[in-house]
Amino acid sequence: MAYQKHINALSNPVFKTVSNAASQLNLECYVIGGYVRDYILSRGDSKDIDIVAVGSGIKLAEKVSQLLPGKPRVSVFKNYGTAMLKAGSIELEFVGARKESYQEDSRNPAVEEGTLEDDQNRRDFTINAMAISLNKDTFGELLDPFNGTEDLKNKIIRTPLNPDITFSDDPLRMLRAVRFATQLQFKIEEKSFDSITKNAERIKIISTERIVGELHKIVASPKPSIGFTILNKTNLLPYILPELSDLKGVDEIKGQRHKDNFWHTLEVVDNIAKTTDNVWLRWAALLHDIGKAPTKKFDKKAGWTFHGHEFVGSKMVYKLFKRLKMPLNEKMKFVQKLVFMSSRPIVIASDVTDSAVRRLVFDAGENIDDLMTLCEADITTKNPTKFRKYHENFRKVRDKIIEVEERDHIRNFQPPISGEEIIKTFNLKPSREIGIIKDAIKEAILEGKIPNEYKDAKNFMLQKGKELGLKIVKND
Ligand code: ATP
Repeated sequence: MAYQKHINALSNPVFKTVSNAASQLNLECYVIGGYVRDYILSRGDSKDIDIVAVGSGIKLAEKVSQLLPGKPRVSVFKNYGTAMLKAGSIELEFVGARKESYQEDSRNPAVEEGTLEDDQNRRDFTINAMAISLNKDTFGELLDPFNGTEDLKNKIIRTPLNPDITFSDDPLRMLRAVRFATQLQFKIEEKSFDSITKNAERIKIISTERIVGELHKIVASPKPSIGFTILNKTNLLPYILPELSDLKGVDEIKGQRHKDNFWHTLEVVDNIAKTTDNVWLRWAALLHDIGKAPTKKFDKKAGWTFHGHEFVGSKMVYKLFKRLKMPLNEKMKFVQKLVFMSSRPIVIASDVTDSAVRRLVFDAGENIDDLMTLCEADITTKNPTKFRKYHENFRKVRDKIIEVEERDHIRNFQPPISGEEIIKTFNLKPSREIGIIKDAIKEAILEGKIPNEYKDAKNFMLQKGKELGLKIVKND
């Protein structure tokens, strides 16, 4: 068999070093997996390099380190038989070739040493099972036993062995298939696809951390709807994000229908993906309507309503993040806030007053731009006249935000009069009057009764104090 040479893939001098280390230890080694796939796809120069050694990956890593300038530190993961080191910006991961056999009820395989072929058999997809030789006499030869190059050409995700075995052995691979199909815009081959549908329930045995790792990559892809459409079709979705599958479907009562909020959501996520790489803003788009399933009602007069779905949705965001063990820090709060405020700009868009915009900017704070981006992505009407009109309305809101911002500096609103000044002016003990006056000043500014300036706020405070029957004790 004539092997194709891929010397260019190995132009980085680190590969020669690995090759030399392997000859000194008298073992075979290969670069395998994502690096080879991305090289053949010309998908940029991957910085993560997986090396498989027929023998001890850990010993090979230690030898490579000795030969590299500065002898970089080797991190050893004994339990997994892997080792990792950094050479400049490159991360090299070493593993010994292995043969795996799985039991029904466990994700942890029984592992034995194996040949390169055994190792390729246990890989998830044909496009991830290609290896390039780092051995002296065959340096650069491609070993592609499952014709991964052909699948790359035809944009196909396929398991190397019977998909039922591959997916049942490690059900995370089902989600990886969806992730690669989304990132690369490939099709999952029919048998593999059917097998995912058949094995979907087994995703339950996978840890949430591994699931979320893949989900993030789907959300971060250029067109996330590809992934969510497959998750829906294969029935994986209800196991992972039931809140989204609950949005599916259109009800009809008395000839009135509402839109299908699942498909609408996917359009919104694709729209937002065109304008931002911020994965949390993309999550906000994905979850912005989840409150619609539990709040859906039919009202004889108003038709279909989803009253309070933004509030209910924002509460659901917390539960969802908690269940998926996603961060419960400011990232979650950001998503919650955007879901909670997702209808606010729409409400004011047809009548953009200064005070409504000041309130919007006050409540959204530093997230105002992201909120506007979300609302613009939310426009999915197929009626071109409406589409243009809605965008124009938001344009007006954005213009007004800039105008109000320049004048009133509401975004990071700091009250011009502190509580301390109110206390001193009227010689108050801690009391509700302080809060009343502070709120009144804030309201007056947001309503546009007074400018956001110290002098005006102070006069307003004095007047308000008078109304409350307070005596001025100090006024400088
Ligand atoms: P990316 O860097 O985009 O995530 P990758 O293919 O490098 O892509 P990794 O998760 O780093 O993905 O995995 C490296 C290689 O290890 C894969 O290409 C594949 O050959 C193999 N692999 C990873 N996870 C699995 C798995 N669950 N089952 C089988 N093989 C896997």
